[in-house]
Amino acid sequence: MRTETGKLKLMRLMYLVLTAWLNTAVAQAGDITALVGGQIIDGIKDKALRQGVILVEGERIVGITTSESIPAGAHIVDLNGATLLPGLIDSHAHPLMSGDDYQDRHVQESSAYKVLKGHKAMKNLMAAGWTTLRVAGDADVHYGNQDIKRLIEEGVLVGPRLFGAAHYLSITGGGGDINYYSPEQHPVADGLIVDGVEEIRKAIRTEAKYRSDWVKVLVTGAFMSVGDSPKAVQFSEEEFRAIMVEANRQGMPVMAHAHAVEGIKMAVRLGARSIEHGTYLDDEAIRLMRKHGTYLVPTLYIGDYYDDPRNNLRQQAVFDDFKVTYRDTFLANVGKAHRAGVKVVVGVDLGGYDYDPTVFVRELETLMKTGMSAMETIQAATSVPAEMLGQKGQIGTIEAGALADIIAVTGDPLGDINELERVKFVMTNGVIRKNTMANKELD
Ligand SMILES: [Zn+2]
Repeated sequence: MRTETGKLKLMRLMYLVLTAWLNTAVAQAGDITALVGGQIIDGIKDKALRQGVILVEGERIVGITTSESIPAGAHIVDLNGATLLPGLIDSHAHPLMSGDDYQDRHVQESSAYKVLKGHKAMKNLMAAGWTTLRVAGDADVHYGNQDIKRLIEEGVLVGPRLFGAAHYLSITGGGGDINYYSPEQHPVADGLIVDGVEEIRKAIRTEAKYRSDWVKVLVTGAFMSVGDSPKAVQFSEEEFRAIMVEANRQGMPVMAHAHAVEGIKMAVRLGARSIEHGTYLDDEAIRLMRKHGTYLVPTLYIGDYYDDPRNNLRQQAVFDDFKVTYRDTFLANVGKAHRAGVKVVVGVDLGGYDYDPTVFVRELETLMKTGMSAMETIQAATSVPAEMLGQKGQIGTIEAGALADIIAVTGDPLGDINELERVKFVMTNGVIRKNTMANKELD
């Protein structure tokens, strides 16, 4: 009798354990979302996976499987016939800027106005497939992007993942200064104006204090700021060294806006993580970038965007001259840099609210004109910038363990990169933010 009671107890215990395990298993499968689509571009491999299912649990991707192996009870999202790929990363964004002559708008708009409008721009970009932005300084006197980022992380606002710098450091009279007012006027410039080692140190410490996670610096003049030249190197070597020393001390990588070739070389030699624009790069600059592993964010499409006779920018003549005399050489040099092994990254450089978010994909189309394949440009907007941001394996790839930032289009972007202008499905952190796939027959 005693043995039988013991057996009964054991059986009852086993039954309870088994039931509990089954319940847990069912509950787990119920928490899994299966994105059932067509091909998957994972951001890493050179070939797309023909038919695949992405399994998402919580905020992360937990596996890639086949339609035969979807866990029972999983929530099915039918994206049949679509191409799924990682959410796009724009590594040169100015979401709080608006208007083509952005310095005019900067002095007319308060920080609060920019933040509210900029957040709307970010949501529009996210709906267009851009799930991460690296802000390259933003013509905002205060720290609007950092506040938006904080509110997104607190769950108060919805928006893309944000990295970057609140401000761009510029010398007096440089690319971040306003150079077309009389000396009696003292507007607060769109850039953070610093001269000499002491001011640089204080500025970077202030950026760090208010949660910038990159340092943005205008090493040379710019195309769109009035009264300075993109061919001029503006920070001295002593000043740039001070930038690197303080940025390193703060653990902040440096993105260096540099057009003039001597500015590019100085920034690369002294350790900038990325060169923004890199317009006048030459063979030696390419060799140095390869040697130092510096990322190149060439921002090509913006040059074409402003090449429109209807435009009358303050700097229109500078743009027109670039287009006529240099654009083709620049595209050829970016292609040369890519073939030499320099890591090229997609950065759009258009402002926020006033720009149609679907045109941002044209940066990929323009990069293809340098000789990069469609797959290479997609990687330049996904896994390559993820690595630059120190987020390898977290974003920019579709793989188990990564955060579930996933987009889908109905066509094949490997056949026509502009299919990415029509993003139908957006998921960030495992949450579906947009799904218009059901309306695909209406297209
Ligand atoms: Zn820019």
